[in-house]
Amino acid sequence: MNKYVEEVIAYVENKYAHQPEFVQTVEEVFTSIAPVVDRHPEYEKADLLRRMVEPERMFRFRVVWTDDQGNTRTNVGYRCQFNGAIGPYKGGLRFRDNVNESLIKFLGFEQTFKNSLTGQPIGGAKGGSDFDPAGKSDGEIMRFCQSFMTALYRYIGPDIDVPAGDIGVGSREIGYLYGQYRRLKGTFENGVITGKGLSYGGSLIRPEATGYGAIYYLQEVLKHENDTIGGKKIAVSGYGNVSWGIMKKAAQLGAKVTYMSGSAGYIHDEEGISTPEKLQFILDLRASNSKDLKSYADRFGCEFYPNQTFWGADDVDIYMPAATQNEVGMEEAKKIVASGARYYLEVSNMPTSNKAIEYMKSNGIIVAPSKAVNAGGVGVSALEMSQNSERLSWTEEEVDAMLKRMMKGIYAKSVEAAKRYGLGYDLIAGGNIAGFEKVAEAMMEQGLF
Ligand code: NDP
Repeated sequence: MNKYVEEVIAYVENKYAHQPEFVQTVEEVFTSIAPVVDRHPEYEKADLLRRMVEPERMFRFRVVWTDDQGNTRTNVGYRCQFNGAIGPYKGGLRFRDNVNESLIKFLGFEQTFKNSLTGQPIGGAKGGSDFDPAGKSDGEIMRFCQSFMTALYRYIGPDIDVPAGDIGVGSREIGYLYGQYRRLKGTFENGVITGKGLSYGGSLIRPEATGYGAIYYLQEVLKHENDTIGGKKIAVSGYGNVSWGIMKKAAQLGAKVTYMSGSAGYIHDEEGISTPEKLQFILDLRASNSKDLKSYADRFGCEFYPNQTFWGADDVDIYMPAATQNEVGMEEAKKIVASGARYYLEVSNMPTSNKAIEYMKSNGIIVAPSKAVNAGGVGVSALEMSQNSERLSWTEEEVDAMLKRMMKGIYAKSVEAAKRYGLGYDLIAGGNIAGFEKVAEAMMEQGLF
């Protein structure tokens, strides 16, 4: 491998050993882009890679709020403005008890290259808090969001940094966050945040965009294999916003999601989680702030398997992890290979260990990276920003057509980049290279800082 790339990876492994998720993503991206650095010796002189692994700005802040019993509660908030070379910082906010600096930094790093892949002018960022909305009342969530935004509002703006949702942050939280921003700033700058409700500038299709985009990308992969989506059985981890979008689009195209999971176990529904009634049940379950996935099995007469995961089930054609990071390690990868499934598309951010990816690829499974597969969400967020700045609203059909074009473009760019570097059909390397090239070029042209 390129000496300079090796040196920077070793530097990150050493300096950030206490941030394992961040180290993992740097190893994965920089290993892929080593052939690009071979062709661009000027990157070493400008120390481009070491600059890329340091966020332009990252801060943490105190978030104090009052619970329903009148107790004072304190959480930690984060915002990492990782790279603004190609546009305003852009990336979601995650509210979950396991949020820490390593998670936010890895997500911000990934987001930089993902946003570049979309072809939209957006830089990379991520933020969040160790506050978990599950089990909290509406009033508690509102007070937390107001306090969070009070700490953050000075550092964001439609041309500076544009947050959005992620795990634990849906349209309810976005509404409270934007309401507080508006109250503090006294202006209607709705381009400051995306994932908004339709009544104040949200985009049609945004709630579905990540899941729909993942299925559009899957269709391109299947086309390459002379295969089609009709009749396919899909296993999806999570039953959140992204998983719901996958289920809905898969059903429209004649496939079915037969497995879904949460942190407490999984569901196997042989009939498919496909009907409007089932899809609505999932939406209602999430909105209720409950994690009672078993209630789905009780309602629709199928099995719930507590405290288990479904990796390696023998009646799955396509695996789509869509819950969280580090879902699939070597143990799970071996089961997936043994099950005979052909396709593994990452949807959540970094669900797979680097070793597990290599193992699945070398055993003939087609693996696609989350950076490309889930990019439709932020892609439509960028379209939401455009609609806000131009004060217009595109129709559902228009946004959906743009999303589809974007996903086809991301797939094509990834295939082309891998081919150009003699790497064959490698969606992971190709996605990393295509995302990296534009950011690298912009940083080189903007001089040293
Ligand atoms: P949601 O909060 O809507 O749903 C998250 C789902 O993941 C829930 O079903 C939850 O189940 C499950 N989950 C979370 N943590 C764990 C865990 N530690 N173990 C097992 N299951 C877990 O989030 P989203 O659907 O929005 O996001 C899912 C993934 O997709 C994330 O990785 C996110 O970064 C990524 N993503 C999301 C985008 C978006 O547009 N929303 C865009 C791009 C990427 P339970 O509640 O039972 O724990």
